[in-house]
Amino acid sequence: MEGALTARDRVGVQDLVLLEAHTSETALLDNLRKRFHENLIYTYIGTLLVSLNPYKELDTYSKKHMDTYMGVNFFELPPHIYALADNVFRTMLSEFNNHFILISGESGAGKTETSKKVLQYYAVSCPNTSLLDNVRDRLLLSNPVLEAFGNAKTLKNDNSSRFGKYMDIQFDHQVGAVGGHILSYLLEKSRVVHQNHGERNFHIFYQLVAGGDDELLRWLGLERNCQNYSYLVQGDCAKVTSINDKSNWKIVRSALSIIEFSEKDVEVMFCFKLISAATGINSQEDRSQNGGGAATTTTRFKRCLQVYSPFAVDHALYARDALAKAIYGRTFNWLVNKVNESLANKDSSRKTVIGLLDIYGFEVFHVNSFEQFCINYCNEKLQQLFIQLTLKSEQEEYQMEGIEWEPVPYFNNKIICDLVEEKHRGIISVLDEECLRPGEATDLTFLEKLEEKMGGHPHFVTHKLADQKTRKTMQRGDFRLLHYAGEVTYCVVGFLDKNNDLLYRNVKEVMRQSKNTIIKHCFPYTEPDSKKRPETVVTQFKGSLAGLTDVLMSKEPWYVRCIKPNDGKKAGRFDDVLVRHQVKYLGLMEHLRVRRAGFAYRRKYDIFLARYKPLCPSTWPKWKGSASEGVLCLVKHLGYKPNEYKMGRTKIFIRHPKTLFATEDAFELCK
Ligand code: ADP
Ligand code: MG
Repeated sequence: MEGALTARDRVGVQDLVLLEAHTSETALLDNLRKRFHENLIYTYIGTLLVSLNPYKELDTYSKKHMDTYMGVNFFELPPHIYALADNVFRTMLSEFNNHFILISGESGAGKTETSKKVLQYYAVSCPNTSLLDNVRDRLLLSNPVLEAFGNAKTLKNDNSSRFGKYMDIQFDHQVGAVGGHILSYLLEKSRVVHQNHGERNFHIFYQLVAGGDDELLRWLGLERNCQNYSYLVQGDCAKVTSINDKSNWKIVRSALSIIEFSEKDVEVMFCFKLISAATGINSQEDRSQNGGGAATTTTRFKRCLQVYSPFAVDHALYARDALAKAIYGRTFNWLVNKVNESLANKDSSRKTVIGLLDIYGFEVFHVNSFEQFCINYCNEKLQQLFIQLTLKSEQEEYQMEGIEWEPVPYFNNKIICDLVEEKHRGIISVLDEECLRPGEATDLTFLEKLEEKMGGHPHFVTHKLADQKTRKTMQRGDFRLLHYAGEVTYCVVGFLDKNNDLLYRNVKEVMRQSKNTIIKHCFPYTEPDSKKRPETVVTQFKGSLAGLTDVLMSKEPWYVRCIKPNDGKKAGRFDDVLVRHQVKYLGLMEHLRVRRAGFAYRRKYDIFLARYKPLCPSTWPKWKGSASEGVLCLVKHLGYKPNEYKMGRTKIFIRHPKTLFATEDAFELCK
């Protein structure tokens, strides 16, 4: 038929490696766009999955879809997050080792949704999971609970993760998923006391006010109207059309019962009480200023306010906010621990794990503060990890193995990581130094020190250092970093306070004397005493990111790169400029070049030989020569063509997965 489009014209290729040689960025973009408009949001680059946020419900996530992908070779079906999840799972089974899936992309690109889909796949589809219904439910229900307490509406995303989450899913090879463990990273607790216009506090507050039953609210001294609580309405958007707080409350409430909170219902109540009390303080104060009656605020908070009362007003407000943040932050950690207790697998036999990393994405607002600095620093570190694990190590491996190879140039963001975190020289160390000079240092002296130390760095600029044109786009109290994902201007106001995160000692004392068991737990006596300075927030964060990197480096990596198609949260809209920018900084072109020139699969000779030797009469049952000679004999017997594989120093490299799948199929048949 004249003018008819071939499938390839219409929907593009499902693996970008299959595009013509020397593909341009435009061709790659065209391919993603075509697929996006056909609701095909997933595309591979080899085993890396690119995912575009559809901003609408797609009908590709049913149990039937899960079953379709189960146990099927990666490249035989249309790209899907289930295919990746299944491939990781089966690789784990056959190699008996640990894996992780790194899900990255900017805020609103779809990371959290992707990680939920992976978890669902493992919880629902793995063999015999029905035996462990309770584990499955708890794994799944940990999500709405943590999201209620750790997510919030921002300008970028109505359900933005305000904490980083790394979850290990533990597998028993006979039974499937048998447990989990969550590590959480730096919750943005400043949100408890302050939200920008168009943003909200954490979901749980609105859920509680909208959905909590009358008795509960009465007990907590709360009214069913967010407008009464200034902590909840600073952003002027307590109601959001895309969010149903009332029904989400029901989900969270019943999830809490299933995650072992059921028997300790009272504790949960206490937990709510604490959190709502943090909100309550504000309302109480507001109303007493208006001459209104006192709300039911518990004795402990009254005592705290008494502690502050001799102070100047702004001092007292500061202390109040610090307390609210501390309570929220610490109860959040307590909550994560509780969830972990319920997910823990008591059986100590050896398990392998699949880790899922879903962390707050790169973020640029009109005004960016300490929180964005931490979030974007974290994203730099993850990008660095990605570079090390893929581009850099891939090229180094070819070199080491003596495989002929044309190096692919790529932008290495190590220079930015160093700018931020280098010992004695980076921004973090300057910030910490200033935090050590209470009374003398201010946010502005911090900025001056940065100018002294970082001036001239190609990724750093301030108002004072900038050329005239750039200066027009900055304020005096700003510094700007050229991140791998774009430039961000940070306003230094609040950096010192937020990094110090001090809680007055007498407030801690009052908290410790509390009768509430959770509060007691959250403010233990064993904390480092005041003589030894506690680590600053950013230094603690740096430490936990280093820990995370170690955890990840010990596992086999898989990647999902999430892309945001437009800034308006709209279905069907593909903004070329925006997507191209992400394609660039996510390094997709470089990844494609490395993949295309490279080899999809590699295995040490002895491991390869041990697995496939039954397929060849000369290697079975025993091969007497070296492992590499054995492998050569084996692949010749299997009919591998010369351009399909290369023999390195210690490993065989196979260009296309197809080749290996054929071998694997033959192996299954001969078993
Ligand atoms: P991120 O975690 O990267 O900030 P989210 O995963 O929270 O982003 O996604 C933001 C929003 O985009 C979600 O609340 C949802 O409305 C939509 N979304 C993301 N991925 C999908 C998907 N696969 N299908 C449907 N909607 C999605
Ligand atoms: Mg998220």
